[in-house]
Amino acid sequence: VYFDPPQYPFVPPPELRGGAERYPVAVVGAGPVGLAAALELARFGCRAVVLDPKGSVSEGSRAICLSRRSLEILQQLDAVGPFVDKGLGWTHGSSFYHDRMVYRLEMPHSDDERYPPMTNLQQQYVEQFLIEKAETVDGLDLRFHSRVIGIVQDGEDARLEVETPEGTYRLHADYVIAADGARSTLRRLLDLRMNGEAYEGRYLIADIHLRSDYPTERRAFFDPPANPGSTVLIHKQPDDIWRIDYQLRDDEDPEQELEESRVRARIARILGMVGERGPWTLEWFSLYRAYMLSLDDYRCGRVLFGGDAAHLVPIFGVRGLNSGFADANNLGWKLAYVLRGWAGERLLGSYTAERREATLETFRNAGKSTRFMTPPSRGYRIMRQAALELAVEHPFTRPLVNPRQSTPDDYAGSVLTTRDPPAPEFGAGPRPGAPLSNVRIAADDYLLDHLGLGFNGLYFSDTGEIGEHVQRMFADLSRRRGAFHPVIVGRQRPARALGAPIVDPDGRVFDAYGAADGSFYLVRPDGHVCARWRRPPAAEVIRARNRALGAVP
Ligand SMILES: Cc1cc2nc3c(=O)[nH]c(=O)nc-3n(C[C@H](O)[C@H](O)[C@H](O)COP(=O)(O)OP(=O)(O)OC[C@H]3O[C@@H](n4cnc5c(N)ncnc54)[C@H](O)[C@@H]3O)c2cc1C
Repeated sequence: VYFDPPQYPFVPPPELRGGAERYPVAVVGAGPVGLAAALELARFGCRAVVLDPKGSVSEGSRAICLSRRSLEILQQLDAVGPFVDKGLGWTHGSSFYHDRMVYRLEMPHSDDERYPPMTNLQQQYVEQFLIEKAETVDGLDLRFHSRVIGIVQDGEDARLEVETPEGTYRLHADYVIAADGARSTLRRLLDLRMNGEAYEGRYLIADIHLRSDYPTERRAFFDPPANPGSTVLIHKQPDDIWRIDYQLRDDEDPEQELEESRVRARIARILGMVGERGPWTLEWFSLYRAYMLSLDDYRCGRVLFGGDAAHLVPIFGVRGLNSGFADANNLGWKLAYVLRGWAGERLLGSYTAERREATLETFRNAGKSTRFMTPPSRGYRIMRQAALELAVEHPFTRPLVNPRQSTPDDYAGSVLTTRDPPAPEFGAGPRPGAPLSNVRIAADDYLLDHLGLGFNGLYFSDTGEIGEHVQRMFADLSRRRGAFHPVIVGRQRPARALGAPIVDPDGRVFDAYGAADGSFYLVRPDGHVCARWRRPPAAEVIRARNRALGAVP
């Protein structure tokens, strides 16, 4: 095995010595989603205990593709450095039918982006880097070898029963984040069911070690000579590891196909097909089945579900872990604001509304990819074959064979969002509900690097200075509970500056945001736009901020 997993010891908690502290938040599961949620809470000064039965990181090969949006979320957590250093960024993909390339995927990318559209990194590193970060953060208490086996909750608090190598104890918390994965114990204990569907298609997922100069991109092979009648996907990962996913045909017995000799034989054929002749070793393999399942409500009393515990999405289009990071990003600030008394409980109601809608949107897109990758019926098989055959000769049909990649979620329809007026004032820029887009300002300096904690206000000024009424508005926003951070973008360097304004002499940020002198974007703590104005009336700005905190409009 190429990876030497870190070991995390059991440290007896105070509860085993008779202590009985009550914690604001208990996070159940130190997978990527639980860790990211805990880090987000800590940014706002909220303490959390993180519980997990494991004493290391995730075993075996799981998520490998992180979206650009996930890296932006990790940047917000001040954790992105090792992800960038270790990960392999990519922008392209190729789809083949038999032995001919039928589609060249080019994902939107420009110099304005700090991160590539996709970064490949094994999940065990994702967890390791997040744990290393969490260990440096005040207020986070990571408890390994600690399995939650019971929960009781009422209007007062939640009491978890935690099993450890040295006995069982009770832990009291105001809220619980259930990030305990696909087989969530909390889901079972609370008798909750996920609804949706499972796909028949079965994939064998194998990681091999192979030295190869082939660039990092996604290769998809439909009905290839090495796996006739089904599909093969190939991805490069760090440490010279290659992920090879191949679909089993309906007439193939999964038990038999999981025999190591058969896996080796099939991989050898696939490597031969792509011209790889070097020596290789088999590192890991397992069977994967695609699901599209979700809880109807991500909240059950004091328990808030996130990641695989809340929803299972097919991995085609790399959505599993990326949707989980978006959950953590959405839930973390809301829970922190409620706990700090900066917002009412109503804000938590928007968590299910926003994230479940995002899950359903993911289902719509991932469902299309999954039906294409693993056609569920004869009709779909015929349609896929027709699309592939047409794509060989007719370029206009090629987008049909594009396995869709994940795109950032947009909360345009959320009750927290103040929509643009019917006659749009902005010809460009992220609309209310969308995450902020990045713009390169100078070498190693991007717009998103300038965001601060809490609500951000992006103000555009020709001179770089801000008038008195805007200064008063900023003072009002800053006095309110929950942080406010102004970001001034000026075409010129101002004589008298508030903070450190971004100087945008060529108007690139102005253009990207469709902005003119006086334009203003109000941005939520998770980086999504809540409202924007050509000229901000102070009362409307305050109303939009209150709305974004769940106040009745
Ligand atoms: C083969 C495979 C390939 C995948 N590929 C991709 C991909 O390319 N891209 C992508 O985005 N996603 C991919 N995914 C999905 C991705 O791995 C998951 O979506 C992601 O791990 C979800 O993170 P999580 O933190 O919600 O859950 P998990 O990573 O499952 O973490 C849950 C944690 O909870 C802990 N836990 C469990 N029970 C308890 C308990 N009773 N008490 C306390 N803790 C508990 C577990 O030990 C674990 O650490 C893949 C998944 C699989 C299986």
